[in-house]
Amino acid sequence: MQERLPLLPLKNVVVFPRNVVTLLVGRPRSVRAVEQALAGDGHLIVTAHREVEIDEPGPDALHQVGTLVAIVSSERQVAGNVQVVLEGVCRVRISDFISNPGYYTVQSEILEEPDAPESEARALIAHVQNLANRYGDARGALPVEVQDMVQRASDPSHLADLLATQLLTDVARRQALLEICDPLRRLESVAVHLAAEIDVAVLERRIKDRVRDQIDRNQREYYLREQLKAIHDELGGEHGNEFDTLRARVAQRGMPAAAAERVTKEVSRLERMPGVSAEATVVRTYLDTVLALPWHERSEDQLDLLEAERLLDAEHFGLKAVKERILDFLAVRKLTAETGSTATQILCLVGPPGVGKTSLGQSVAEAMGRNFVRVSLGGVRDEAEIRGHRRTYIGSMPGRIISAMKQAGSVNPVLLLDEIDKLSSDYRGDPASAMLEVLDPEQNRSFSDHFLDMPYDLSQVLFLTTANSMAPIPRPLRDRMEVIEIPGYTEEEKIEIGKRYLLPKQIAAHGLQERSVTIPSRTWTTLVREYTREAGVRQLERELAAVCRRLARDVVRGKTTRLRISDARLVELLGPPRFSQDVYVGDDQIGLAMGLGVTEVGGELLPVEVATMIGKGTLTITGKAGEVMQESAHAAVSYARSRAEQLQIDPDFQSRLDLHIHLPEGATPKDGPSAGITMATALISALTRRPVRGDTAMTGEITLRGRVLSIGGFREKALAAHRHGFRRMIAPQENARDLSKLPPAVRKEMEFIFASTMDQVIAAAIRLDDTLVDGLLGQIEPLVGTALPEAVAAAHLQAGRGGDEATAQGS
Ligand code: ADP
Repeated sequence: MQERLPLLPLKNVVVFPRNVVTLLVGRPRSVRAVEQALAGDGHLIVTAHREVEIDEPGPDALHQVGTLVAIVSSERQVAGNVQVVLEGVCRVRISDFISNPGYYTVQSEILEEPDAPESEARALIAHVQNLANRYGDARGALPVEVQDMVQRASDPSHLADLLATQLLTDVARRQALLEICDPLRRLESVAVHLAAEIDVAVLERRIKDRVRDQIDRNQREYYLREQLKAIHDELGGEHGNEFDTLRARVAQRGMPAAAAERVTKEVSRLERMPGVSAEATVVRTYLDTVLALPWHERSEDQLDLLEAERLLDAEHFGLKAVKERILDFLAVRKLTAETGSTATQILCLVGPPGVGKTSLGQSVAEAMGRNFVRVSLGGVRDEAEIRGHRRTYIGSMPGRIISAMKQAGSVNPVLLLDEIDKLSSDYRGDPASAMLEVLDPEQNRSFSDHFLDMPYDLSQVLFLTTANSMAPIPRPLRDRMEVIEIPGYTEEEKIEIGKRYLLPKQIAAHGLQERSVTIPSRTWTTLVREYTREAGVRQLERELAAVCRRLARDVVRGKTTRLRISDARLVELLGPPRFSQDVYVGDDQIGLAMGLGVTEVGGELLPVEVATMIGKGTLTITGKAGEVMQESAHAAVSYARSRAEQLQIDPDFQSRLDLHIHLPEGATPKDGPSAGITMATALISALTRRPVRGDTAMTGEITLRGRVLSIGGFREKALAAHRHGFRRMIAPQENARDLSKLPPAVRKEMEFIFASTMDQVIAAAIRLDDTLVDGLLGQIEPLVGTALPEAVAAAHLQAGRGGDEATAQGS
């Protein structure tokens, strides 16, 4: 029990032992208490108010647990206040309040702390030290001396009071901690508080970081926008007028009212958008496209057929039939335009590359006085390429048709849809159906492009199409088109085209003097034969360009005026010849027959190889073989079986031999069945072990019973055979009538054998012993008397065996 000591009630302060505090004492009772303490041994009791508001608290308004403190110093201030520095000594419990005149004294007892078990104390201290460190990291460090004291602490009670002083600001919590006498329990309580504080601090820091980021971003954007505005202002307020200018342009474009309204709305939308957003860019692209499209601009048609004829002739050699058809088409168009009919057909120019399809289209446009645009459809697999992407796509664009209209700049151009057969090779359905809509006069009045997102009128466009072959074009599309076929050129025609059109064009393009370049006839032949191999003249044009390029270089260097191109000079300019002329005309071989097919690039050689191996009778076909080829192969095998006896083949060959038919060349011919007789020939050759004549090419369909049926593309095939150096060709009897389609030069140089049965083909193609031939041809009635066209019949020469082989030598 202590002696009585003066009481100093504190409003907001809880003093812990060893805690030094400075206070300004003002209330008269408190000043008296301090004076009394100073008059004694300098000690007094402090305790906190239960409630702050009360100014003159009685015993009930004060906490019972307080602190015995020593006055370290005191200083009187003006106005009767005293500033005191107090240091806590120990916890006390007040047992009695005694009211003196002007102040309280209290009776109190010192609260003794129980001893703490040492190991537990050490563990707890270490834990709290660790927490204090983390607290420092999360919240900002504690003062250095405090950190120091914490790390050196060995007494749980001191450590708890030290941290309570430093960390707790709330009076109630401080008081609660003061009232815990057991040092370990008190330190635990501090630890709990520390851990909670650390959690809060981490959370706070996270929130703070996020807020700061956001503010940084907003500020940055704001700053940039302000700068942009300033730049626009500096540039003379262009920004402000831009939208008015756009609106004025919409009004001038003469588009349909609904469209104009749509576009004006887009301008307003753009106006409200931040100038540099991704969306604004899309709207701008859209407006650019719409405003650049022709809406009313049109060229006047000048359909003078004589002029058209003159133009077609001036720019294209030969092609008489093609030009006639084009002129017919133009005439019909002129008439239907006058009567207001819209049901016009669409021209489709079909032929191998480089035969002038595109340039014919250009001439048509020129003849009609219309703008010309070419739209390449090669490799288009996606409807969106025709119709465009919706604007929700990043980087969306209008489709090819609308882009082409933009390029054309008038509502009635000639639009050449190039390679329409390449359109749907992969995904048949969609691009083709979009194309159908483009070409249908009923629908193309309001063509819809996804990007444009409003109808556009294509009804005044003149559509032309080109294709390498009609086969891959879907039926409905084909029905819309009027087909004009342009076959390949002969060597002579190519040379003429080269001389008259291609060379002068290249000379002019390379800035050379027209008369200074001369190419003698011999060199032309070499150039066409040995540097190009094609149905058209595209490669030839490229080679001539290369020649002119090299000549131009030499002229500029002053090296040459010698512009006569001999064969030797050709090698200097273009390198060694690329194709040796008769590369395929070769030795007689067993199991190899030379067929002919028509591919997309014109007539081509189509060799067929057959190998036989001991086996179980499987038939394998490799290379580019379609279903039709399979059928032909089976027909060939049937034929071989039926002739086993006459040809002295093992009649049971089919169960003892594996047959392997191989079509080595890569190109797929359009008409599969025409490889029939070639397969049968190669097969018989392999089975009889007799060679096929290496100088003979052939084409023809074969039936199961060994008859030979007519084929298409006779002209192309004959030209290909001739081009490859073959001078002997077997073809179906019925195709004899096509002989007249061949250029005289080819007719003269080649020998044609027209056959109606496979037996005749074998006799003409395979080097058989006389006995075998007799056996074979004895089978059938002689051909004499069959209905041969007169011209052919006249030229019908007997060759070899007793009139069974119809041979025509061209005249
Ligand atoms: P395509 O469109 O059939 O592939 P192009 O029209 O591109 O062929 O023709 C290739 C080149 O050959 C063009 O320079 C073209 O003028 C020329 N050409 C083709 N055929 C003839 C021809 N009969 N007369 C004159 N030049 C031709």
